[in-house]
Amino acid sequence: MAAVDCSLPLSVNYQEKVRPFIDLVDELRANGLDRDVSLPSVVVIGDQSAGKSSTLEAISGVQLPRGSGIVTRCPLELRLKKSQKKDAPWKGCIRYVKNKKDVRFDVDEPGNVGDAVKKAQNDLAGTTNGISDSLITLDVESPDIPDLTLIDLPGIARIAAEGQPTDIGQQIKDLISKYIQKKDTIILAVVPCNVDIATTEALQMAQEVDADGSRTLGVLTKPDLIDPGTERGVLQILNNEKYKLRKGYTIIKCRGQMDIEKGMSLEEAMDKEQSYFKSHEHFKSVYKEKKAGVRTLAGRLSTELVGQIKNSIPFLKEDVKTKLAATRQDLQLMGIGVPQEPDKKMLFLTDLLRHFIDDLQKTAKGELTRVCLKRKRTNKRLFGDVRDAFKRLERAMNKMMPVSTDGSILQEIKNAIVENRGRELPRFMCYPVCEAIIREHLQKFREPASVCLQEVSELVESVSTALATAHFQAFQGLDWEIKGKMNELRMMHEKKAEESVDQIFAMEHLVFTQDSIFIRSVTEMGDKVVWPIGHVTKQDDEGKEAEKMLMYICSYFKVAIRRMVDQVPMAISLHLLKNLTEDITSQVNLMAAYPDKTLQLLEEDPDSAERRAMLEEKLKRLMKANQDLARFN
Ligand code: GDP
Ligand code: MG
Repeated sequence: MAAVDCSLPLSVNYQEKVRPFIDLVDELRANGLDRDVSLPSVVVIGDQSAGKSSTLEAISGVQLPRGSGIVTRCPLELRLKKSQKKDAPWKGCIRYVKNKKDVRFDVDEPGNVGDAVKKAQNDLAGTTNGISDSLITLDVESPDIPDLTLIDLPGIARIAAEGQPTDIGQQIKDLISKYIQKKDTIILAVVPCNVDIATTEALQMAQEVDADGSRTLGVLTKPDLIDPGTERGVLQILNNEKYKLRKGYTIIKCRGQMDIEKGMSLEEAMDKEQSYFKSHEHFKSVYKEKKAGVRTLAGRLSTELVGQIKNSIPFLKEDVKTKLAATRQDLQLMGIGVPQEPDKKMLFLTDLLRHFIDDLQKTAKGELTRVCLKRKRTNKRLFGDVRDAFKRLERAMNKMMPVSTDGSILQEIKNAIVENRGRELPRFMCYPVCEAIIREHLQKFREPASVCLQEVSELVESVSTALATAHFQAFQGLDWEIKGKMNELRMMHEKKAEESVDQIFAMEHLVFTQDSIFIRSVTEMGDKVVWPIGHVTKQDDEGKEAEKMLMYICSYFKVAIRRMVDQVPMAISLHLLKNLTEDITSQVNLMAAYPDKTLQLLEEDPDSAERRAMLEEKLKRLMKANQDLARFN
């Protein structure tokens, strides 16, 4: 990749190629979009005193806070913008958000940046040595800097200093991880030449998130402090023969402590650096190969960043579109806020209640509701689920056909025949015995009917509650009121349904059907009473008689079951779907008709108001981003 020399006046072409992309991402980040999607950026990481700040200073030409311990205590976003005019004045500005309020102040000269950043850090992270993950943005505009945006993070500290929380090391690592694990972040890993590179935590952390080094750029610092004789090792790294990174390494030399104390300017340092590498016995070759020098590094970074941005744009667009749709949907689901004017408030309430009733009725009838149209909720399944419960009832009752239980019933019949034998001749069937057995067996059908009723009642409860939540979640008072009423009504109708089912069974107790229906059933049944496998019938007289009676009993149950599997669900539906819905409707209508009390229930709870405000903010952000991104294709 060709390096860009920032000391040369940048061609118009370069301006066109680089600036718009960096501007785009800066704009998106300024807009707060990094809260919603991940944005391409360059993040600087390194162990304490590795030379991060020195590197950033050299690239940006501004003096950053210096000192021992953790100097960078908040992520610092350094947005460098190259002025178009060669004689444009230097401009600096600090911005951050504290307690949801924007704070911003200008910095008048490069030398004051350090103090300004410290001031912002103290404001955000306190004056002790704590850290904070709130971002500070430093905008710098000058003719002498590259177009680049970098994020400086606290250095990886191994031991907590006095007054620092003991887990400060972990806190910092967590913060760094948060930034570098994003796939479109370029990691600038700063490592000094004079330590064993294998022991640096920065490179290890980078490797954890970017195993093949495809987005990690290595920076080797402090070549002048190298232990003589170890240059070969450093050259091996620079030539990517050891600790390989796909993007390779660049070596730079910054001002040492002495240089700073002597007041060496950054420009002077850069000139010195150039001649240092040019004439260095070991490093002049890598300098020629454009693997050395701050300017080379700055140029490479710009190019890398722009490349990353270009790659990310299609994904960003997609991401923003998806999130935009989701946010719109969330907002829509929350409904519009409560208007303050009395008239409008009234209208709002009636609409709110009407929409709920609408959905409730549709749900009870098995039609699609507004709420489930907006979001794939399961409440449209109410009818389907109720039907399933009815089907289970049908299956359970059919299974209870006397013949399909077990052989015991035959024995029962036989015993009953023997016990109740009066003066009649054999083979004349005793009807009272038959009726008694039918009645006894009928009682068993009460249980599945109750189970079904209970199931439907629970379904109605869960669906109506979910529906109320969907409509009224923003208004807790109203939500509770309506849910309370619904519950009361449901319990009442459950009782009524129970009574209806009792009545059905009381009628079944009569043991009746029209002759023609019974005869048809007997004909259908014929001699087809199929015994369960393994059942053996004894061919004695009572046995034959019992089998015949059982055949008639089964013929009767065929009719009775057919009746019950329809009537029980009809009774349940009448009360728990139709009548309950009607009662809820009139109760809710009553609430709408006497709005004084109901309006009080309409106060939106603070959580919802806040959530709505947040969603609206987010929507704005995403819409703006969508617009910004639309310019690129
Ligand atoms: P940071 O903690 O990673 O931000 O490290 P600094 O940039 O504050 O650097 C730590 C110390 O190393 C400072 O005293 C710098 O002046 C010094 N330093 C940085 N780079 C070089 C370099 O290339 N050569 C020399 N001699 N000293 C350097
Ligand atoms: Mg530093």
